[in-house]
Amino acid sequence: MTTEESTTSRNRKRKRQRNPKPSKEEPIDTTPKNQNNKKSQRDTKVQQHGGSSASSKRPKPSNFLDALRERLSGGQFRMLNEKLYTCSGKEALDYFKEDPEMFDMYHTGYQQQMSNWPELPVNSIINWLLSKSSSLVVADFGCGDARIAKSVKNKVFSFDLVSKNPSIIACDMSNTSLESSSVDVAVFCLSLMGTNYSSYIKEAHRVLRPSGMLLIAEVKSRFDPNNRGADPKDFVKAVCDLGFTSVLKDFSNKMFILFHFKKKEQVNSNQKIIKWPELKACLYKRR
Ligand code: SAH
Repeated sequence: MTTEESTTSRNRKRKRQRNPKPSKEEPIDTTPKNQNNKKSQRDTKVQQHGGSSASSKRPKPSNFLDALRERLSGGQFRMLNEKLYTCSGKEALDYFKEDPEMFDMYHTGYQQQMSNWPELPVNSIINWLLSKSSSLVVADFGCGDARIAKSVKNKVFSFDLVSKNPSIIACDMSNTSLESSSVDVAVFCLSLMGTNYSSYIKEAHRVLRPSGMLLIAEVKSRFDPNNRGADPKDFVKAVCDLGFTSVLKDFSNKMFILFHFKKKEQVNSNQKIIKWPELKACLYKRR
């Protein structure tokens, strides 16, 4: 390399360092095409009930170090996110037990991702609950920051891999401490992450009372059969074979899909072999 070449490349490098691109990730396949179409969560009922400002934009990094930190944590978030989608719930639990700080890292990245979504699925679920009796007992599987428990008057059991506040029960949600037939509503909001996701739904079936409701919100791209995603029909069939009736399938949102199921009164006597479709991991790419 000549001196001139190396000086030019050094200058280029310096320039890059002065103007580092802030890290931004987006879910592969799920970016909304028209950002102007943002319908802010701010005008939903949820905000009146104390929903935090997940739709607010994160601040721009003020200097190079902030930008670098943001870039590194973005990389760690993507790594953790991929891990959660490609291991079992038990492995994820063991991982975070060993390194609980990683859980904070994951959730910082998760909140950043969510700040790019025009509408949050957890708010749809909260609004659904607010429209029903507050006497319904709820189990929130994979609760994150327990926004549901904070936003409704109902008794809510919140489960996640790590407990960030005393109201959250730390466990692998395929094996909760709830009594059988003890809750009215079971919620999975973007939390069917493990490779053994069917065992989470089986656990929800166990703890739900007959006629109890199962609400599932998932990233839309995971259910896009044209893009290696699962066929929603296969998913609905598997859940119904377990002992539910399908009540609602809502594909209207760009980013997420909503399913409502009702637990059957009668337990299936003939134990069918259930074919659970594989749910594609929701990976995020750097922008
Ligand atoms: N439901 C929340 C958080 C979604 S992020 C919301 O909508 O904002 C998905 C959450 O599921 C993460 O907090 C993750 O730790 C949790 N999770 C994934 N697998 C789990 C498991 N096996 N047991 C308990 N929680 C799990």
